[in-house]
Amino acid sequence: MITSKTKLLGVIGYPLEHSLSPLMHNAAIQAINAQQAQQNLIDYIYLPFPIKPENLNAAITGFSAIGVQGFNITIPHKQTIMPLLSEVSDIAQAVGAVNTVYKTHSHRTHQGWTGTNTDVAGFLAPLQTYRWDMHQKVAVILGNGGASRAVVAGCIQLGFAEIHIIGRSIEKLTAFQQSWLNSPLAISLKIHKWDKLSSLISQADLLVNTTPIGMYPNIQESPVDEKVFDKLSPGAIVYDLIYIPNPTKFLQQAQERGAIAIDGLEMLVQQGAAALELWLQQSVPVDVMRYSLHKHLGLNK
Ligand code: NAP
Repeated sequence: MITSKTKLLGVIGYPLEHSLSPLMHNAAIQAINAQQAQQNLIDYIYLPFPIKPENLNAAITGFSAIGVQGFNITIPHKQTIMPLLSEVSDIAQAVGAVNTVYKTHSHRTHQGWTGTNTDVAGFLAPLQTYRWDMHQKVAVILGNGGASRAVVAGCIQLGFAEIHIIGRSIEKLTAFQQSWLNSPLAISLKIHKWDKLSSLISQADLLVNTTPIGMYPNIQESPVDEKVFDKLSPGAIVYDLIYIPNPTKFLQQAQERGAIAIDGLEMLVQQGAAALELWLQQSVPVDVMRYSLHKHLGLNK
C-alpha cells in the first residue's frame, strides 16, 4: 500500500519497457512486509524511470530534490552517470560502470550519491556454489562489451590463472586489455579474435557468453559452432549471461556435451538482491525475487 510516508526506489534507463527489476524488487518488498509486525513494515516502492540521455543530469538533481532513496541504472546510463556521483566504489571504477546508486552519508547528512556495481556479485553468486579452486583454472570470455567487464572483475576476484577475451575488433580488444592494466585491479588479460576460439576452447574451465548472440528473438543462434563446441572439456562450466530464452542454444550445446550450464537469470536476481540489501540495510528474500521472475517468464524451475 502506498502511504504519505512511502519512500522511492527505482531504475533509470531508456527504454525501460522490458526491465524486470520493478517486478522483482516490489515482490521482495511485499514479501518482507508479509513477515513483519505492523510497526516494522518497510514503506518502499520501486518504480521505472525512463530517462532519455539528454535528461540524465536533470533527473539526478530531481531525485535528490524529491528524496529518492536509491536506484538502479541500466543502458544507456551505466557509464555516463559516473561523473554525476559524489563517490564511485573501487569495484565500479574497475568495471567502468555503475548499476546501483545509494545515498552518500557523511555525519548523517545526505551528501550526494554513491555508485557501485552489483553485477559482479550477481555474476559470482551461482559460480560460488561450485566450491572450485579457480587458481589453476582458465576462463574464456566471449565478447568485450559492458557485461564482459563485470565478468572479468568477477574472474579476477575468483583468482583464475588465465583470463582470455574473444572479440571481433582488435582495436576494441586492445583498448579493453589496456583499461584493465590501468584499473585498480591491474591485471593482464589475453585477447584473441574469434578464429582462435577453436584452439582455445579445450583449455576452458569456464566459458562465458557476454555477447547478445542467441538472445530472443534470435533463439536459433549461438556464438559457438557445433564443431568448435565438440572440443569443450566435459567438466567445464558454461555460463550464458542471456536469460531469454531459457535455456539458450549455447547452453543446450553445452549440456549436450556434459558441461555444467548456468543461465543469466540467477545473475539478474543476485545483482538485484545485492542492490536491495544496500538500500534497505537488511537481508532480502532472494527466493521470492527468483520466483517472481520464473513465474513472469513462465519457467518451471
Ligand atoms: P554490449 O556492451 O553491447 O557488448 C556486447 C558485446 O558483444 C560486444 O563486445 C560486441 O562486440 C559483442 N557482439 C555483439 N554482437 C556480436 C556478433 N554478432 N558477433 C560477435 N560479437 C558480437 O552489451 P552488454 O551490456 O555487455 O550485454 C551483453 C549481453 O549480456 C546482453 O545479452 C545482455 O542482455 C546480457 N546481460 C545480462 C545480465 C544479467 O544480469 N544476466 C547483465 C548484463 C548484461 P563489439 O565490441 O565488437 O561490438
